[in-house]
This record gives sequence, C-alpha cells and structure tokens, in this order.
Amino acid sequence: MSTENNSELLYKNSVQILTDLIAFKTISGQDNSSLIDYCDDILKKLGATSFRTYDDEKKRVNLFASLKAKNSNNKKPIILSGHTDVVPVSKGWSSDPFTATIKGGKLYGRGSCDMKGFIACTLAYAPIYSKSNLNRDIHFSFTFDEETACQGAPILIEELKRRKIKDGICIIGEPTNMKIIDAHKGCYEYTTYFKGLAGHSSAPHKGVSAVEYASRYVNKLIELRNKLKSRAPKDSIFDPPHSTLSIGGVFGGIAHNVIADKCHVNWETRPVVKEDGIFLNQEIDKYANEILLPEMKKIFPNASIEKDIIGEIVGFDREDKSDACELISSLTGDNSRQVVSFGTEAGLFQEIGISTVVCGPGSIDQAHKIDEFIVLDELKKCLNLLDGIKVKSITN
Ligand SMILES: [Zn+2]
Repeated sequence: MSTENNSELLYKNSVQILTDLIAFKTISGQDNSSLIDYCDDILKKLGATSFRTYDDEKKRVNLFASLKAKNSNNKKPIILSGHTDVVPVSKGWSSDPFTATIKGGKLYGRGSCDMKGFIACTLAYAPIYSKSNLNRDIHFSFTFDEETACQGAPILIEELKRRKIKDGICIIGEPTNMKIIDAHKGCYEYTTYFKGLAGHSSAPHKGVSAVEYASRYVNKLIELRNKLKSRAPKDSIFDPPHSTLSIGGVFGGIAHNVIADKCHVNWETRPVVKEDGIFLNQEIDKYANEILLPEMKKIFPNASIEKDIIGEIVGFDREDKSDACELISSLTGDNSRQVVSFGTEAGLFQEIGISTVVCGPGSIDQAHKIDEFIVLDELKKCLNLLDGIKVKSITN
C-alpha cells in the first residue's frame, strides 16, 4: 500500500471513529462509561494497558491507557489528553446533534470540535504507534466532566501522582485550529446559599431577608472586583490583564409581601494568578462570617451562609521554556504562542510537573453552539501532528 493510501485510510478511520464517538450522548454529568469502554477496547486490542478512575457513584469514568515503549531510553512520555463530555444541546439544530453529518467539508455534531475530534484522531492513529518501535510511552488520557469546571481530571491527576507519572509532555487537544496555546486564566465557580427567616413584609425586623443579605454579599464582591484590577501583574499577558469577577445570577424570593428565607448567588472569578483567587475567597468569607452572619443570627440563630465550590479550574501559566510547546513547534513550524479566554485541564497537568500545551483540531468558535462542526481538514492536520510525534518517538 502506498503512503498516500495509508494516510487516506487513516483519515477515513478518524472520521468513522468521530462518528461513533458523537453517537455516545456523553453530556456532562451523565454516564460516559459506554464511550470509555469503546475507547478502551480499541486501545486494549493494540496491547495498551489501562486503568480507570471514577466519580463517587462510579457512573462517570476517566480512562488512562498506555502504549509502552519497546526500547525505553528515558525519554519523557507523551500524554494525549481529551475530555469525553459535551455540553447540552438546545433546540434549533439543522441535524440530529448526536448523528455525525458531513456537509461541505465539515462534520456536524455535538462534540465534533469540542473535543471528540481530537480523541478520534488519537484513536485512529493508535494502531500505528502500537506497531512502531516506540522509545517512549504514549498515554491516552480521556476524562469526564471537563465542561462542568473540570470535575473528572483532578481525580485522574491524583492517581497519576500516586503512580508517579509526573514527568511528561501533555497535549490537550482542545480546539485551537492547531495553534499553540500556552496559558489561560483560572476559572473558579461558586454558588453561595443564604438561609434567613420568612415573615410578613410589613414587619421586616421580625424576619431575616435572605435576598437582602445576598445583595450585600454581591455588593462586596463587586467592591472586591475593583481591588482585583489594582492587583494586575505588570507583565500580565491576559486581556483584560487583571483577574475578573462576574455575578451570574441571584435567585430568591416568592412575593412582594413575603420576606424571602432563601436566596442563592452564582458567581465566578477568573484569576490571572492563584494568589488573587485566595485573596478573593479570604475577603468574601471574612465578610460573610464576621459581618453578615452575626447580624442574621441576632434575629434568627439558625441563619446560614454557605459557599459551595462548583469547580476551581486552576490557571495555566506561561513558562519560559516549555518542552511541550517546543515539541509542537518543531513539528508544525509554528513558533507562535497564544493565550485563550477559556479554561482547560492544562493547569492540572502543569501543577504536577508535566509540561503541557493546548493544541487541537477545530475552532473554539464552533464549540458550545448550535450546529457545532469541525472542518474535516483539521482532522488531517491533527493526524499529521500525531505522525510527527511518532517520528520523534521511535528508534530506527
Ligand atoms: Zn473542551
């Protein structure tokens, strides 16, 4: 078979696998085990070893599979990493979101670009890795619930630490049009619950309005937001250069003439440095516990303020010298480095000492949208990159 036929076959396989992956309705929070079984089967047949980690209910699964080096010469292993969950679908799709539909050089379907396209490419390429004389391990890392503030990856990272897999190069295949992303802000999401005492609105002093205390909490957050601006690092590479804070929603109250006993606030912050996240949490917790809560309890001893952490995606920091970025640059010739405004699992891998880059097929412009698609040529570019990685991972 000629090389051209081989690459055509490889490409066809990647499209077929992507079609299969899209058919698994792996919306965040739901059972993704069938998709994980599918991936694990492909890799096991090629001789990979794997382990799984789970959420508390064992419903959602992370997979970490390894094709071992045949001739190890202590080269850093490569981790190809993708999340298996997709965001929910809203009405208005032109085709069934869970049936891959090809039209005009594009493949439509939920998760096509974010980010089952990358996973499909790695699985299509895996047979070639398994047949090669690898001089380093190639790992496949497929996580659950990235879209809900990276809930799956931290569980996997703990296991990697335990297994002492902490020196490597990780490629997170989020859609970047195969551009090199080497930094993003963190993304911390919280919901704060206020419990007060209901009563008749004609006697506000006899009740504890959860809505009013929540409003004061929101005001404090907005005040702290201004402080975040003045804390921006001078050499910040981000736009805007400072940590941001946003109130996503305030929910409480049932009627004009009833004192609300419940209210909750959804809010998030995107810290440019970890310290800002710590500062913000300390300040707002202090305000809630030392100012608001004592006032509430004076009237109603069972009043409470509880802050739930929805997720804390750590930031991904630019490094002066990055093995991961240099590897991609050496293969694609692209020496540019960009930052993005979306969060990924990159910071989690970076935190345990793994050199990490975000680079994958498709565009973030199509992610999370109706009629999500991936330009098919992007799959070919990704397969080329995986081919380059093989060249850098074999002993002739
Ligand atoms: Zn994604």
